[in-house]
Amino acid sequence: ANFAELGLIPPLLARLTEMEYQQPTPIQAQAIPSVLAGCDLIAGANTGSGKTATFALPMLQHLFEQPQSNKTQSSKGNYVTGLILVPTRELAKQVADSIKSYAVHFNGAIKTVAVFGGVSANTQMLALRGGTDILVATPGRLLDLISSNAIKLDRVKTLVLDEADRMLSLGFTDELSALLDLLPNNKQTLLFSATFPEQVQALTQELLNDPVEIQL
Ligand code: AMP
Repeated sequence: ANFAELGLIPPLLARLTEMEYQQPTPIQAQAIPSVLAGCDLIAGANTGSGKTATFALPMLQHLFEQPQSNKTQSSKGNYVTGLILVPTRELAKQVADSIKSYAVHFNGAIKTVAVFGGVSANTQMLALRGGTDILVATPGRLLDLISSNAIKLDRVKTLVLDEADRMLSLGFTDELSALLDLLPNNKQTLLFSATFPEQVQALTQELLNDPVEIQL
């Protein structure tokens, strides 16, 4: 299949052509139609598989087709619609850069912010003012920002856990369960992991609703 056959819309297709993505990787071909349809997903996928585009392209498409009224400068709150949890600041930056690049033909309609520890929270709090469409975050810094009322998770529509095994092995278990408690029940959840130790399987059981499973 080509990208158009997977159901992606022209502004994304044009960008993929510019980026010289000639055809979907196996995980993209298998997962994108189900993710576009709103299914939960559990995918065994390493870096280099094309996993980022697998969650990023459908998330962008959903946001573009169903704009949220998150971006308000009023006191209504700093909401986020698409939340991507990652284990490291490097991955947070890399994923946010990929998303911004895929979104160039949306002409600024979709706001993406990355937040991570190890740097001052002030700039990140400013970036989150008025909410954001897509937030890429490491768990600890996200919890801090929630405590400061810089962001609210009540309106998340899609949750992505990227490199779930690394997130748990780096000791983010408690942070992760605190965050999951703050999320609405009714959402789409996509979980990507290179390996599936018991802890990841337990998370999968708890979190995913009748998921499509892809093991490459
Ligand atoms: P990821 O596994 O998401 O970290 O992606 C690995 C690399 O492959 C990134 O540099 C992507 O830009 C690139 N990539 C992802 N999907 C494709 C594709 N369908 N064709 C060519 N390159 C791709």
